Amino acid sequence: MQPILHISRAQFLTNLDAVRARISPSALMLVMKDDAYGHGIDWAVDAAATADVQWYGSYDVRTGIRIREALGDRAGRVFAWATSTVEEVEAAVRADIDLGVGTEEYLRLVIATAERIGVLARVHLKIDTGLHRSGIRPEAWAATAALARAAELTGAPAVVGVWSHLAEASDDEDDEAQTIFVDAVAAVRATGSTPEALHLTASAASWWRPELRGSLSRIGAFCYGIRSADGPELEGIRPISALSASVQEVHDDHVVVGIGAFDGLPSTLSGIQVGTPAGSRELRSVAQTTSEVSTWPGASIGDAVWILGPGEHGEQTATTLAEHIDTVGEEIITRLTSRVRRVISDG
Ligand SMILES: *Cc1c(COP(=O)(O)O)cnc(C)c1O
Repeated sequence: MQPILHISRAQFLTNLDAVRARISPSALMLVMKDDAYGHGIDWAVDAAATADVQWYGSYDVRTGIRIREALGDRAGRVFAWATSTVEEVEAAVRADIDLGVGTEEYLRLVIATAERIGVLARVHLKIDTGLHRSGIRPEAWAATAALARAAELTGAPAVVGVWSHLAEASDDEDDEAQTIFVDAVAAVRATGSTPEALHLTASAASWWRPELRGSLSRIGAFCYGIRSADGPELEGIRPISALSASVQEVHDDHVVVGIGAFDGLPSTLSGIQVGTPAGSRELRSVAQTTSEVSTWPGASIGDAVWILGPGEHGEQTATTLAEHIDTVGEEIITRLTSRVRRVISDG
């Protein structure tokens, strides 16, 4: 049997509720990059739309279009912030996708595309608040905002948002970033534009730093129940998925289970505890398509071994595993390959 990532739609909905209760009155933008953090886009959009989520963050345009398709007739704003090609920009504008714009060059491309096809492009201008990962530098901001406003007056784009991304390395740095952000919003308003979507924070800052939240909060990890590496547990939030593989061989002191590096399991995870019918056991080694796990009394072929999940069988969460190898929980789940079957249950 192929390894399975068991995904709970109910837990996802519970997490969405918990996140929204926590950040209110800031609205949730559900971030769905990397195929909804490895869980699959289509069911997740459907669940979120059922829960009346109004904003979806896609990263790239292609994912944005998939979200739009999954939404179908249902209302929802989709935000794609990856700087994209002219073909993608055209497709995005036609699919009613809001675009994040972090350079003047890209702004000009978006304006020209909107003018050429005669469809309104909704733009969120990105200020570089210190992360230097893209974003318009503060010294160039006023000129870029003026350029956007001049184009807005011709009806091609609408400046509907201002956004940035925080380093989340220290509170002081994030506070400084917020000061730059607030100034940038004021500068855009001074041109006459009326951006309503103001968004600066992702999961951790949205949860722990209420004073930094804008009218929108872009949240991925916590909605999928992935807490921050080296961060505390989150009240009301649990992982939405659990990864199982089945026992293929039983030996005196170990069993062989059908999951390995080709499934996306990092071989550096050897030594961690996984869940078995008898509770926690050691994952001894990871080969290409199999792994060895310490045995237990009565182990038999076909038994499920739980590599990660909420902990019901003695397994650890993705983030706890990630902490063993100095990465983040998101990486453990998004690395799982297409060999791992995704199974969504309502419960
Ligand atoms: C990934 C991402 C987010 C969501 O981050 P989480 O920590 O998963 O909530 C928000 N904004 C941007 C720009 C991102 O790239």
